[in-house]
Amino acid sequence: MSRVLRHISDEMDEILLHIKNNKHTVTILTLLLLLIWEGVSPFFSFFRHQMKKRAHHALRNFLLTILNAFLIFIMFVALWSMAADYAAGQHIGLLHQFSLPSWQKALIAVLLFDAWTYWWHRFNHVIPFLWRFHRVHHSDPKMDVTTSNRFHIGEIFISSVLRIPLIILFGAELWHIALYEALMFPIVQFHHANIGLSPQVDRLLRIFIVTPHMHKVHHSRYHKETDSNYTSMLSIWDRVFGSFRLSKDPSTIQLGLKHFDNDNKQSVLGMLTTPVGKEPPAPPSEDS
Ligand SMILES: [Zn+2]
Repeated sequence: MSRVLRHISDEMDEILLHIKNNKHTVTILTLLLLLIWEGVSPFFSFFRHQMKKRAHHALRNFLLTILNAFLIFIMFVALWSMAADYAAGQHIGLLHQFSLPSWQKALIAVLLFDAWTYWWHRFNHVIPFLWRFHRVHHSDPKMDVTTSNRFHIGEIFISSVLRIPLIILFGAELWHIALYEALMFPIVQFHHANIGLSPQVDRLLRIFIVTPHMHKVHHSRYHKETDSNYTSMLSIWDRVFGSFRLSKDPSTIQLGLKHFDNDNKQSVLGMLTTPVGKEPPAPPSEDS
C-alpha cells in the first residue's frame, strides 16, 4: 500500500513540476488563443473593424506588462529566493512545521497565495493610497486579455515587497510561487478577455474559477459592482468572504473609470502618472 501511495506522490510531484516548468509557454499560448478568440467572437464590439485601435490599445498595455516583468526579474526573484532559503534554513514558516509530501505542501502554498491575493486585491480597493495605483488597472474602458497585466509598477513593487515576509510566514519554496503563477496567470487572462462565452459554460466554470462574467462586474463603473469579485483564481474566496456578485445582464456593464477615459490618461505616460493625478483618490462614487 505504501508503495502505491509513494508512486502516486511521485506522479503528483512530476505533474506539478511539469506545470511549473511550462509557465511561460502556457501563458503565451493562452494569450495567443484569447487574442484570436477576441478577434473572431468578441463579447463587446468596441474594436469591431478597428484593428489599428485594437493593436494600439494592446501595445500600451503590453508596455506596462514588460516594465513590470523586468522589475520582477531584476529584483524580486532573487529576494523571494533568499526569503524561501532563509525560512527553510531556520525551519520557520507554516509549511516547514509539517512533514507532508512535497506535492501536498505545494498545493497548500497555492491555496495560501490565492487567499492572500484576494485580500491584497481587496485592500487595494479600500485603502486610498493603494487605490491610486490600482486604478490604472481599472481605468481601461476597453478591457480585454491585454488588460490582465496592465498594472502600475508601483502596485507591482508594493505587492512584490509584501511577498517577502509572506514567503517566510508560509514557509513557501520558490517553485511554489512559480506553480501558483503557472495556474493563476491563464485564469486571469481568461477572465479579462473580451470573449463571447456561453452563459452556461460561464456558470459551470465559476463554481471553481473566476470567469469573464464575474470579472466584468468587478471592472464596472458602478461602485457597488466594483466592490465585489476580488479573487484572482478560485471563486471560492469571494463566496467565503461575502463579495461574490453577478450582473443580470453583463452586456449592460460599463467598463472603466470616470475621469480616466481621455486619451491622455490611457497613454503609457498617462497611466504611469495616474497615481499622482488630482482626481479623487477614492474608488468611484456610487452614482458614477
Ligand atoms: Zn480591482
